[in-house]
Amino acid sequence: MRALLIAVYAVIAWYAARAVLRWLLQSPPKPERRGAGLPPDADMVRDPECGVYVLKDRAVTRIVRGSVLCFCSEACADKNEARGR
Ligand SMILES: [Zn+2]
Repeated sequence: MRALLIAVYAVIAWYAARAVLRWLLQSPPKPERRGAGLPPDADMVRDPECGVYVLKDRAVTRIVRGSVLCFCSEACADKNEARGR
């Protein structure tokens, strides 16, 4: 009877040790990267034509009906302009 008790304890200890080991071996969560090589506070603007987010200083800007719109490319700017007419 004693041997059975020891065996049960051994199994419990084995599972506990394995759980602790797995927890210890878990790699810490990596901080999310917000775009390669960009500062975290980079000013992003949304292209109203295709919905893509672009850096404000790299965006193609057009003044449409008095307001400045930012686009990801000349193609999107032209498309939006053509639609607006
Ligand atoms: Zn676009």
